[in-house]
Amino acid sequence: MVTLPSTLFHSLAAIVGEPHVLTGDATAGFAVDWTGRFQGHTPAVVRPRDTAEVAAVLALCTDAGVPVVPQGGNTGLVGGGVPLHGEVVLSLTRLNQMGPVDHEASQVTAGAGVTLQQVADADPGLDLGILIASRGSATVGGAVATNAGGLRVLRFGPMRAQLRGIEAVLADGTVVSHLAGLVKDNTGYDYPSLLAGSEGTLAVITQARLRLVPRLRDMVTALVGLSGLEELHALAHRAVREVPGLVSAEFFTRTGLDILVAHAGLAPPLPGRAPAYLLLEASGPGALDNLADVIGDREAAVGESAADRGRLWSYRERHPEAAGFLGVPIKLDVSVPAAQWVRLASEVPAVVAEVDPEAAVITFGHVADGNVHVNIVPAQTADGRHENAVFSFVASLGGSISAEHGIGALKARWLPLARTDAERALFARIRSALDPSATLNPNVLSRLSGRWVGWHLQQVPANVRHQLQLPAQCGDVSGKRLNGRDLAVLDLRQPRLGEAQPLPLLSQLITPLLGHDRATPASCFLSRSRRHVVSSARRTTTMTGRSGRMRPPPPWPRWPRRSGRRSCTPTISATTGGTTSWWRRSSRPSRGWPTRAAPAGGGRRRRRTAAGSGPSTSTRPAGTTRSTPVR
Ligand SMILES: Cc1cc2nc3c(=O)[nH]c(=O)nc-3n(C[C@H](O)[C@H](O)[C@H](O)COP(=O)(O)OP(=O)(O)OC[C@H]3O[C@@H](n4cnc5c(N)ncnc54)[C@H](O)[C@@H]3O)c2cc1C
Repeated sequence: MVTLPSTLFHSLAAIVGEPHVLTGDATAGFAVDWTGRFQGHTPAVVRPRDTAEVAAVLALCTDAGVPVVPQGGNTGLVGGGVPLHGEVVLSLTRLNQMGPVDHEASQVTAGAGVTLQQVADADPGLDLGILIASRGSATVGGAVATNAGGLRVLRFGPMRAQLRGIEAVLADGTVVSHLAGLVKDNTGYDYPSLLAGSEGTLAVITQARLRLVPRLRDMVTALVGLSGLEELHALAHRAVREVPGLVSAEFFTRTGLDILVAHAGLAPPLPGRAPAYLLLEASGPGALDNLADVIGDREAAVGESAADRGRLWSYRERHPEAAGFLGVPIKLDVSVPAAQWVRLASEVPAVVAEVDPEAAVITFGHVADGNVHVNIVPAQTADGRHENAVFSFVASLGGSISAEHGIGALKARWLPLARTDAERALFARIRSALDPSATLNPNVLSRLSGRWVGWHLQQVPANVRHQLQLPAQCGDVSGKRLNGRDLAVLDLRQPRLGEAQPLPLLSQLITPLLGHDRATPASCFLSRSRRHVVSSARRTTTMTGRSGRMRPPPPWPRWPRRSGRRSCTPTISATTGGTTSWWRRSSRPSRGWPTRAAPAGGGRRRRRTAAGSGPSTSTRPAGTTRSTPVR
């Protein structure tokens, strides 16, 4: 377990107050995600209360070379908000201030830690366009960072479409703020939009200016049983075209419903058992008639009161929990062009069965958006085979491996299936520009040419070169081309903070490279900050410093010639974020990281639903059950 250097602990405590720097057992709930699949560890959870504190914490962590994972409600489903590699957790939940609702503009400014439910409840006549089942815990910052979608994207778009402005803090502590809420504002790059979906890799969101939509009235919800996914898709398509007030078109299948009936105490929604179910919701005068026209004489349950609609919605909204009743699920969230939706939804269980015949596969999602949530409870080892099968299938259909949850840690490996080399290189350049020190979420969305050491290949002796060009045999080592030069690359993103896994490898590579045998693991180290990258018996190359100023490389001494071996004068360049940097002033390398006892009363319990198995969902009023046949 990594611990914080006591000086850093005291500096953080001086900024946020000692009770808000959690260590030890108090950090447990912040280190595991909602599904229980992503379990990490952290030396500390830091809980600032405002933008100034966020800025000071980030500046300090960047200076100390400590990576940071921003965290909101911790309801994310791709492992992006948990410290899988020993990062410090920056919890934003104390940024929970919300300004008054601006009725002129139908907007509100909310702190990053305000929950989506609190925004939705801010005004009786207005609502937030985003509705997700985790809204009782999911925060504004997290929803912007993941560009959350949900149940009303069809009508109001994803979280990015609700953004009218943002305040955020860059890794070096710089605050950028654009919260005027102007609808028309072409004064340069739209960075609020860039931060939407950035998954905590570009900046920490501290406030967002959000548009509010008129609260929907005369709502009608219908749950229709259908013979299969083809009929379901055709009906949803028809509803999109013919029901002007349509708000949602959601689906699930008998598989998930049976689990909820067996384990969550839900009664079957219709007298007959259907293979597939479509939930349609519409608002406004005429909504009931419009829905009835489209649904025709199919078996359906309809709710008009809040209680009845809530009961019908619970079948769909509790589906994210269904797989959890069977085991620890792999939660995939994919989308395809409309024309491929039926193939995706109907064939994906068979695709999974090819790699794990006993796995349980539960599908549900947002049919009108081309989005299917594929929840898999594996019977065989969850070693990536399930993701591989589903993502490859989705890619073959021209789809996306992440419709709304993001890439996070879960999908980083498969990003090349969805994004070209040129696109990913652009991502890396954007990331380097905003966070050159790789402080923010370094293991999310993968930094590509992020943190690694490069040797000019032509400088490398043939035997080492041979090793470097065989990634399969050398773990994280591979050849890369940067700024027109071939480099051999040792990727330093993989090792955990404070651990020394790559040392033998680094040593093994450096020793012959330098033409002498003094680069032993003891003399060739990777510092805890992971920005001091290469050391040999004679010299350390380091890169750090917030200024980012380049310094010319000092002359490299010739290494003593050993008989029988070729001497070389290596040009070792340390590179980060795709920008070749030479030696920069180093912050003092950290020494031991002493353990510190957790401050009393600092812990946090994970929020749970009433059912005790997930984040609190904002429950619609419970009421009597009434199913009305559609006319
Ligand atoms: C039951 C359930 C249902 C769900 N339904 C949906 C759904 O329908 N649609 C959907 O899109 N998602 C859904 N989700 C996923 C999840 O709720 C959303 O991704 C949500 O937006 C995450 O918000 P959060 O505050 O919990 O963020 P977290 O989980 O804490 O973090 C998510 C990501 O955002 C980053 N982050 C968090 N806060 C900040 C910040 N202030 N600044 C910068 N980066 C930050 C984190 O580093 C991480 O990468 C569901 C989850 C559950 C458990």
